[in-house]
Amino acid sequence: MSRPHRDAGGPDRVDAASFWQTHAGEAASHPPLRGGVETEFAIVGAGIAGLSLALQLAEAGREVVVVEESVPGAGALGASAGIVAPQLVRTTPRQVLSRLGRDVGGGWLRLVGESGGHLFGLIREHGIDCDARPHGFVAPARGADALRRLTSVVEEWRPFRQDLTILDATGVAALTGTEGYTAAVLDASGGGIDPVRLAHGLADRLVTAGGQLFHHSPATALTREQDAWRLVTTGGSVRAARVILCANGGNHRLHPLLRETVLPMRIHELVTHPLSAAMRAAVLPRGQALTDLEHDIFSIRWIAGDRLLTYYPVAAHATATAIEAAVNKRLRDMLRYHEPVGIAHLWQGVAWMNSSLLPRVVRLDERLLAVQACNGRGIATNAIVGREVARMLLSPTTYRPQIALDVPRRVRGFALARHLPTVLLHGARAMARWSRR
Ligand SMILES: Cc1cc2nc3c(=O)[nH]c(=O)nc-3n(C[C@H](O)[C@H](O)[C@H](O)COP(=O)(O)OP(=O)(O)OC[C@H]3O[C@@H](n4cnc5c(N)ncnc54)[C@H](O)[C@@H]3O)c2cc1C
Repeated sequence: MSRPHRDAGGPDRVDAASFWQTHAGEAASHPPLRGGVETEFAIVGAGIAGLSLALQLAEAGREVVVVEESVPGAGALGASAGIVAPQLVRTTPRQVLSRLGRDVGGGWLRLVGESGGHLFGLIREHGIDCDARPHGFVAPARGADALRRLTSVVEEWRPFRQDLTILDATGVAALTGTEGYTAAVLDASGGGIDPVRLAHGLADRLVTAGGQLFHHSPATALTREQDAWRLVTTGGSVRAARVILCANGGNHRLHPLLRETVLPMRIHELVTHPLSAAMRAAVLPRGQALTDLEHDIFSIRWIAGDRLLTYYPVAAHATATAIEAAVNKRLRDMLRYHEPVGIAHLWQGVAWMNSSLLPRVVRLDERLLAVQACNGRGIATNAIVGREVARMLLSPTTYRPQIALDVPRRVRGFALARHLPTVLLHGARAMARWSRR
């Protein structure tokens, strides 16, 4: 399996591949694309969006070819924390409706609400062995008004889903073993998965269903022909009646209208060595995943072998000892029960953001679509977006899609804006500390 390259700018301690990429075992091997092939649908990228879409098309008996730069799960999916979080990113349902209107906004809200159940259903239906933990997702908040604020968000969700519960301060502490939160939303449809084993499983099912998958075949150019697009890879080309770009951070290199439309956000995740039964029983004892995206970003979940997976903003040039000390301090501050943890694995990935922080599917012409950016919470969302795009392509005249196709939107002030997500992510802790003084 090929590994992402070590980030030259990061600290020495950063592993070149994620915990999942290192431990998932070899993916079934598929050759690179050589020569020319013709197909009905060509998809660029074997992440969650591309695989979910391709599988639906292949299962409907249609011709589909997927070209992947590396191997399935090599991108953001494989770098992720594997948290199934069927929630919006720093946006409320009311804001979505006021920005996009009842029809389009309501469609997106229904899809996001359905996305956790859809993903775990897909895993079950296909018998994919990826350590699926459908135990729920907790989004906590701090402050005197948190309970009121989150209660009103759950009310805003109510027309679209009924699987959200509000926890007060005592409830959050009991369910999570964390300190200092005054309320939380418990999303019963969330949880966790091993994202690389998920990618391998979906890729296997795709090939069984008749889809063609080419590894180590980066798409380098796209050219329009009369009634088709030609996708050129380093070793060959695909002529397809329809092309769907699902390359996440790779999309903007393939079409001029996609340039400067998404922003990179560098995120570090780490996995501890196995922890004691006492710690396992004190922190998230019922196995939910937790992410606090409000000010001081904090995220934890248990994974295989009683290891804790958590997010930490690693500064450039930090030593391994300094990182471990800072992570322990962080966990000590956040958890009611804490034992010193050792870091077994630390890696970095790039999540790509739309400036709206909402999912976006872009129509470039009648034969070319792009699933754009993941917004750091795209595992469940992009899986259901894949399903939705497949339904649109399979029944273009009869299916009424839940998503509205958008046009490419260049980010204003891109040269500066592209640094913002990472700066804000790292700055969030400093700002939160400062604001608590
Ligand atoms: C560190 C980190 C942690 C995250 N944690 C979570 C989380 O816990 N929960 C959550 O929901 N989301 C999380 N996310 C976001 C989540 O990973 C993404 O939303 C989701 O995986 C995006 O899926 P995708 O299929 O769109 O893109 P990707 O998974 O990036 O897939 C795109 C694929 O396209 C391939 N590709 C790129 N360019 C080309 C090309 N030119 N030719 C061929 N192939 C190409 C790539 O190799 C890759 O396999 C995280 C992201 C990061 C980086």
